[in-house]
Amino acid sequence: MVLAGPTAVGKGTVAAYVREHHPEVWLSVSATTRPPRPGEVHGEHYYFVSDEEFARLEREGELLESAVVHGRASYGTPREPVLRALAEGRPAMLEIDLQGARQVRASMPDAYFVFLAPPSWDELVLRLVGRGTESEEEREVRLATARTELAAAEEFDVVIVNDDVARAAEELVSLMVDPHPAKES
Ligand code: 5GP
Repeated sequence: MVLAGPTAVGKGTVAAYVREHHPEVWLSVSATTRPPRPGEVHGEHYYFVSDEEFARLEREGELLESAVVHGRASYGTPREPVLRALAEGRPAMLEIDLQGARQVRASMPDAYFVFLAPPSWDELVLRLVGRGTESEEEREVRLATARTELAAAEEFDVVIVNDDVARAAEELVSLMVDPHPAKES
């Protein structure tokens, strides 16, 4: 399953909920060139690597997908752990940006694509400001990205509205078990 959605929609929070409450779900750990935020652990939230190391991973085909996000840092999904999780039959989840999701669609068309949407645009802006982890300039870049990303919802198999983290995460996990639930009558 690929979980994507605009910046600050809460993908990371939903993924953290799944990590805590659903240990049966395997969560991909991305490589990134951005520096760690307070509390982020190498190997758990991300593999924090240098530009040189990221370039090597890309060059040697070790990434399933990769993208420069918000025009700043590079992010990518290590390929081998994903293939291993799938071979073991584990429900596997990637939390990545839209560019990455499109690359995975091209190489793994059988994946299930979930778009996490904010309850409203105003809510998204509030979350980004409230998070307080970006400078104003960086926030503008992220909002511009988010605006185009919201329009991409229709490319996805399903849209989940993140009005409540636990509810959205549980919906996500139940879709991993049964991606085509019968409609209630
Ligand atoms: P942050 O820096 O806030 O943790 O993440 C910024 C953005 O990068 C988020 O939209 C997140 O989904 C995306 N991202 C995280 N890991 C990956 C990855 O492996 N590949 C891609 N394409 N995007 C990623």
